[in-house]
Amino acid sequence: MVEIIITPLGTISPYPKNNMNCPGFLIEYKNEKILLDCGNGITRLLSFPNILQNLKVIITHYHKDHFGDIGAIQYASYVYHNLEILNNKIKIYLPKDDYAFNKQEITANKESYSEYFAIDNNYSFYINDLKVTFEDNNSHTIKSYMVKLQNKDFKIIYTSDIGTTNFEKLIEFCNNADLIICESSFLKKHHSKSKTHLTAYDASILAKKSNAKKLLLTHFWPEEDKNEYLEEAKENFKNVDIAIENKKLILKRDYHG
Ligand SMILES: [Zn+2]
Ligand SMILES: [Zn+2]
Repeated sequence: MVEIIITPLGTISPYPKNNMNCPGFLIEYKNEKILLDCGNGITRLLSFPNILQNLKVIITHYHKDHFGDIGAIQYASYVYHNLEILNNKIKIYLPKDDYAFNKQEITANKESYSEYFAIDNNYSFYINDLKVTFEDNNSHTIKSYMVKLQNKDFKIIYTSDIGTTNFEKLIEFCNNADLIICESSFLKKHHSKSKTHLTAYDASILAKKSNAKKLLLTHFWPEEDKNEYLEEAKENFKNVDIAIENKKLILKRDYHG
């Protein structure tokens, strides 16, 4: 049996509230682990110092809600390295083009035991046999990368923050995914004019048109009931769930050698 474990660590934005944090998902696969975004508050759900061993962190874009806790992870890596508990640098993957000096601030951190890699559309790396690729979605307020994790058995998409202006490309990127972890910042009732975020209903259209198997909604408004997002998406796509902090989702495949 091969499995990928997906643990939501942060599901709301723009600020943490109660037991909910800003965006972050932990992906565990064949003893490797990767963090998709590093929002405010997610570190309280991680097991230190073990989490730091061979840790890879992806920051999809330079909005604070997606990297608010990177300083805590960096400082923990520095401290545990000094204690001789951490011997390998953590790897941090960041958008190549800086925005508002955020990249500069992260990479200039002297009290961090980490190394940095620049994300652009042509960049990829592997977690075991799982290929990680990126695509600028061209529809958020700043450059923001969607993430694809794929091998012969699985295809998982993490949309990060996306809008509606590049929808056909988005459908193509998500085509036949086993799972789309999709932002749904708004509900229809908000009557948002935003073209740089999705509603839960938009997310359901994406899942349906891309023939996805499952949709996991995230990036909720802290003041709303998550079930409203679920109901709105269900109108159009049945196999949908809402991301809840620490509620694991496990994708499995029988291993045929
Ligand atoms: Zn954003
Ligand atoms: Zn966001």
